[in-house]
Amino acid sequence: MTTSHAVVVGGGIAGLAAARVLAQGGVRVTVLEGSSQIGGKLRVSEIAGIPVDEGAESMLARRPEGMDLVRDLGRTADLVNPGTAASAIFSRGALRKLPAGQVMGVPSDLRALAASQVLSPAGLARVPLDLVLPETPRGGDVSVAGYIGARVGREVVDRLVEPLLGGVYAGRVERLSFESTLPAVAAAARGHRSLINAVQGIRAAAPKDPGPVFATLPDGLGTLPHLVAADIAAAGGTVRTGAMVRELRRREDGWRLTVGPARDPEYLDADAVLLALPAAPASRLLTPDVPAAARELAGIEYASMAIITLVYRTTAFPRLPKTSGYLVPAVECDPERGGRGVKAVTFSSVKWPHLRDRDPGVIAVRCSIGRFGEEHLLQRADEELTATAMAELAATCGVTELPAASRVTRWGGGLPQYNVGHADRVAKIRAAVAGAPGLAVAGAAYDGLGIPACIASARAAANRVLDHLRSREGVDHDRAGGQAEGTRTQ
Ligand SMILES: Cc1cc2nc3c(=O)[nH]c(=O)nc-3n(C[C@H](O)[C@H](O)[C@H](O)COP(=O)(O)OP(=O)(O)OC[C@H]3O[C@@H](n4cnc5c(N)ncnc54)[C@H](O)[C@@H]3O)c2cc1C
Repeated sequence: MTTSHAVVVGGGIAGLAAARVLAQGGVRVTVLEGSSQIGGKLRVSEIAGIPVDEGAESMLARRPEGMDLVRDLGRTADLVNPGTAASAIFSRGALRKLPAGQVMGVPSDLRALAASQVLSPAGLARVPLDLVLPETPRGGDVSVAGYIGARVGREVVDRLVEPLLGGVYAGRVERLSFESTLPAVAAAARGHRSLINAVQGIRAAAPKDPGPVFATLPDGLGTLPHLVAADIAAAGGTVRTGAMVRELRRREDGWRLTVGPARDPEYLDADAVLLALPAAPASRLLTPDVPAAARELAGIEYASMAIITLVYRTTAFPRLPKTSGYLVPAVECDPERGGRGVKAVTFSSVKWPHLRDRDPGVIAVRCSIGRFGEEHLLQRADEELTATAMAELAATCGVTELPAASRVTRWGGGLPQYNVGHADRVAKIRAAVAGAPGLAVAGAAYDGLGIPACIASARAAANRVLDHLRSREGVDHDRAGGQAEGTRTQ
């Protein structure tokens, strides 16, 4: 299939994973990445001499797609797992262990929940009502807060589910879709009146020794895109940076892309185009020729956040943290309500022993600030954000020394919000895209924003493009054959 040319727009993990499938399928593939570097939300750089990710730092090891990609790149032996996966919650004035038996914050073990002391006595007393309450009607999609709050009470939502989901979406539980953000729990809940019973069912069905939850690469997950890009190049593909796509137009026999600045545009023709972009740029490119998809994409909201990385001398910690980090519920976090503003802390050198081994004399910590609707918290200078993170560590860990190094990474519009109705919206986008031959979409905006989910959507989109090109080449071959025959008979 070497005559076909496919262009992948977006050089994040989804675009690169898709391009790799296309290149291996024998297609001439070009990846166009608008910024100066590939990787999108996967980026790593050194701070105080150790490589610490600036964006995504771990991959779910219990979904196959990410692990499969690493295996296909011949790097399985390099994977490293967390030293501890134990995480804590800052609730009711203290750091508390996550209760055993919870699934994304929804409890299944009431004794463990009580022992954790995450909830107030009143909040705890409300939880078992779930076992006796009549069914909570759920026709279509509902919000996370609406359904879970109705079953086990608002405190479970605020102090467990919200912070755990916040770690993924930085979203608001009143708006996030139960079906799209907690698909396993939502599916189990369809088969049970009680949510606690539903989660007990999930726990009972889980493998007894499932292995590590997360994995990363020794020099940071930000190295993964570069490994994929090298593989694409080895298969004959091209990965370009600084190639911002400004316009996409359908032509009779394919697509035309306008790349680069308006004063010096470059035109590129493709038999197929795969957009692996956040919703806003995808919407802009699809407006002229696939307006129905563009309209739906424009409705997907994004949350902004910042990661503040601090590297301290180990001796700055009066006691070394024993957990991989902790989450701060929005109800504890809001500075206007006396909170400190940091929503999650990861003790990177505790979570990842290979980082500690790089330099046992230092501890790297990542603090994240900003949820959907908290953009005002990010409209502060880097120094202020750094001071906020330092104040957090002083308050919870007693660290009063200055860090040896600090770094602020801003992710404006970094995380798509899967709000109520997201699955319907995605179905409409896919239907509209399917009506445009040789077009496919992939990435975090659609069926999951974790890295394995992005890779899964990339593979599916690339396979659709391959099918299209194969059927088209079949038609072209038939046409060429027919013409040759026609010539002979003349
Ligand atoms: C701070 C942070 C931490 C995270 N942590 C984790 C984690 O630990 N584990 C996990 O599984 N997930 C994590 N995620 C989520 C995950 O990293 C992302 O959902 C995923 O990487 C998105 O990949 P993508 O390829 O869909 O999009 P992106 O990574 O957004 O890539 C899209 C690319 O398109 C480019 N682009 C945009 N417009 C154009 C244009 N017009 N022309 C050309 N190029 C364009 C962009 O520059 C970008 O490189 C995190 C996300 C963030 C923001």
